[in-house]
Parts: sequence; structure tokens; C-alpha cells
Amino acid sequence: MVGNKGGWHMKTEITGSCLCGDVRFRGVGKPEWVVNCHCKWCQRQSGGPFLTYVGFLSENLRWTKGTPTLYESSPSVERGFCSKCGSTLSFARPDRGEISVFAGSLNESPDTQPTGHAFFDHADPWLKLSDSAPRWPRHPPGNEDRDNR
Ligand SMILES: [Zn+2]
Ligand SMILES: [Zn+2]
Repeated sequence: MVGNKGGWHMKTEITGSCLCGDVRFRGVGKPEWVVNCHCKWCQRQSGGPFLTYVGFLSENLRWTKGTPTLYESSPSVERGFCSKCGSTLSFARPDRGEISVFAGSLNESPDTQPTGHAFFDHADPWLKLSDSAPRWPRHPPGNEDRDNR
């Protein structure tokens, strides 16, 4: 299951859970995208300064215990959380066949860097980042049409 280098990109699956463990998931294959999102809606949902998205095609992400409670934050956007412990768990676009989980939920820390920072216009002014990943004012290039709420 894990490549001999131990790198996140070498793994063929990732696992994670909410804080209480009532909801668990498994993602199969390499994530389609890994991006930090600083938008105000991610800040509100998580209570933190940003969320690190780890994206999959819907068929490659399975809930292995329980399922998240869904909140439709805008049309066809489903944000998932654990109804018992409140952990932020997912961001899904069922119409596009896409779902993301978040790096903080994973059982093993990724050693792959996110490819960039989305909605950096919304980033908290006190946040000082030392990475060299691109900082986009809003959506990543090529995703300008996406609803993000
Ligand atoms: Zn929970
Ligand atoms: Zn966001």
C-alpha cells in the first residue's frame, strides 16, 4: 500500500477520520489535487485560517465508517462534518464527481507540498507563510468558474 520511499505521492491509498472516530474514510490512488484554500467560507467552516484540500474523483473516496452530515453551502456544494464531534470532513461537488477531504484529517501527514494557495485575497493578514507555492487571489488558474462557497 505504501511505496518504498514512504512519500505521499507513492502511496496508493490514504486514510483518515474525524476527531471522535465515528466517521472514517479511505481515498484510493493519488489525489487529484492538493491545494490550500484561504477563503472566508473555509475559514468559517473549519474555524482555522485555511483548509488544505486533498481531492479525489468521487468513486475513489469511500466512507469506511459512518458518513458525514452534509451542509449545502451553495447550490451543488456539499460541505461535510461529523455530527457528533463537529470535525470538518469534506467538500463535495456531486455534479462534477469530485470530493475533497482535508489534510488535517489524514492518519499520516503528507510529505507532498500543496501546489498553491487559493483565495489568498481572503487570507488573514497575520498569516506569514514561508513556502514558495503560488498564491492566487481567488481560484487556481483554470478553475475560475468554480463555486467555492
Ligand atoms: Zn466525529
Ligand atoms: Zn475555501
